[in-house]
Amino acid sequence: MQHIRNFCIIAHIDHGKSTLADRLIQTCGGIAQRDLHEQMLDSMDIERERGITIKSNTITLDYRAPDGKDYLLNLIDTPGHVDFSHEVRRSLMACEGALIIVDASQGVEAQTVANLYMAMEHDLELLPIINKIDLPSADIERAQEAIDAELGLDPFAAISISAKNGINIEEVLVGIVEKLPPPQGDPNAPLKALVFDAHFDKFRGVILQCRIMEGTLKPRDTIHFMHSDRDFKVDEIGYNQFQLNPRKQLSAGEVGYIVAGVKSVQDIEIGDTITLLDRQAEEPIPGYQKARQVVFSSIYPMDTGEYQELTKALDKLAINDAALTFEKDSSAALGFGFRCGFLGLLHLDVIQERLQREFDIGLVISAPSVKYILKLRDGSELEVDNPSYWPDPTSIESASEPYIKASIITPEEYVGGVMELCREHRSESQTMDYLSAKRLEVTSIMPLGEVLFDFYGKLKMLTRGYGSFDYEPIEYRTTDVVKVDILVNKEPVDTLSYLVHRDKARKRALHYCEKLAKEIPRHQFKIPIQGAIGGEIIARTTVAPYRKDVTEKLYGGDVTRKKKLLEKQKKGKAKMKQFGSVNIPQKAFVSVLRAD
Ligand code: GDP
Ligand code: MG
Repeated sequence: MQHIRNFCIIAHIDHGKSTLADRLIQTCGGIAQRDLHEQMLDSMDIERERGITIKSNTITLDYRAPDGKDYLLNLIDTPGHVDFSHEVRRSLMACEGALIIVDASQGVEAQTVANLYMAMEHDLELLPIINKIDLPSADIERAQEAIDAELGLDPFAAISISAKNGINIEEVLVGIVEKLPPPQGDPNAPLKALVFDAHFDKFRGVILQCRIMEGTLKPRDTIHFMHSDRDFKVDEIGYNQFQLNPRKQLSAGEVGYIVAGVKSVQDIEIGDTITLLDRQAEEPIPGYQKARQVVFSSIYPMDTGEYQELTKALDKLAINDAALTFEKDSSAALGFGFRCGFLGLLHLDVIQERLQREFDIGLVISAPSVKYILKLRDGSELEVDNPSYWPDPTSIESASEPYIKASIITPEEYVGGVMELCREHRSESQTMDYLSAKRLEVTSIMPLGEVLFDFYGKLKMLTRGYGSFDYEPIEYRTTDVVKVDILVNKEPVDTLSYLVHRDKARKRALHYCEKLAKEIPRHQFKIPIQGAIGGEIIARTTVAPYRKDVTEKLYGGDVTRKKKLLEKQKKGKAKMKQFGSVNIPQKAFVSVLRAD
């Protein structure tokens, strides 16, 4: 075990995590030059484009140190966004150490600080790296000061590198071997393995990534998932080395993959502890948390004919995404669709983008909502995240909604604005801490529902992009929530209904009414657009009437042109939804429901 190092890389987006990973892979060899492409670890297109890691990847590198000793280095990739923070935690639990990258031209960023704290909580040994020293704007001394003052790490331990130009990469490898501790654990104890990741392979089924904490695992063993209480027979185990590299056993301290006839990641739980069915560990590994869906939204195909495709696409995505939930839903406006549960807003975004990009399905997505817990007058309790299932208000005794502890890290000059923004979003308390001379952390206790609408965008604008946002759910608190309907010509448009705090109902209703009024074409009659709580109208706009016949200006002359025009008009109608006597263009839903 002395020859194993399990580590991850913590860095702010763009500070060079992927580039360094590529260099480490390249330096350790074991991969043909032709197989080398940039950003080996970022496999999904969206990840590469947005520069974020969504699904983590793991790789085992063979490294011969200058002293001639051979090491196995397990580089465990971690996702870099709050929605996936419990995945970050799981990855960290598989490691003994972490490299912390600081960009020599940018200094320390908030996200790095947040992830560093998480690594410290898990007792990881930390090795600071100063990257991009090749840049003319690089300031190594300033970066060292930041490592000392903002991260609280030893600046003299930092290794200065250029990941891009391959400068000092060998020093990083030596640092990993010398500074990071080897794993511990007893290979003869009952098996305890942490499943920290899983993905679906169309030939092999689900491939589990795991870290063996105690004991030894062999092919043909029957494994038992301690939390989900399921058993599978192991087909193959081994190291991740670009191809799966089968081994005869994996034992304490090692990181590797397991293929065990699992059909879908929905069948297992990531974060679960694996033990042997016939020699079980007494306790699972501590710190297990189930993935929690906190944001819910309905997804409809823009074209109702694409419902089957949407079904297939969601099935496909779910095979590989244990955190995505969905069930059938339907809307008078948009036909059949699905009610989906997400880990957070980015998760929703990623799924939406993948559906559109990989499966080429145009979508309408309803406003995201949190889950409310209602106490009814008859003594029963009801959980509601979908406005369609909101009960008769007179039957509700009380309601509560989820609150979060939000942490916003910002340069000090924007702190006033940030506090103001939190208050506007029903923050119940705010505290402020200096992280360094110029950087502050604002901690705000506020409803999760408040950050789903009109919050991120404003925060980014207000802090000129420097503000970072993270949160953790804390508890449910009593609230005064109402259902708002949007009526077009007195008919409710079900997809546009939303659940909101009474104080915020009117502002958002006005926003929807105004946007909708811009998107609905004129009709022969005046169309009122209203926001309503039950029978009470709280917002109103109108679309003025219009009488023109589109063919009027052709003076009855050219018949073919007239025909063409009428056909064009008909086609236009195909993209419309009939609501009573009003036609609403599909794109109106997209525009009205677009976040921020
Ligand atoms: P990540 O978001 O942390 O994974 O960062 P990437 O590895 O994708 O790097 C972000 C950008 O910085 C890319 O354009 C890289 O080419 C560039 N980059 C990474 N390392 C260096 C370096 O050492 N020097 C310079 N000049 N650019 C670098
Ligand atoms: Mg990257």
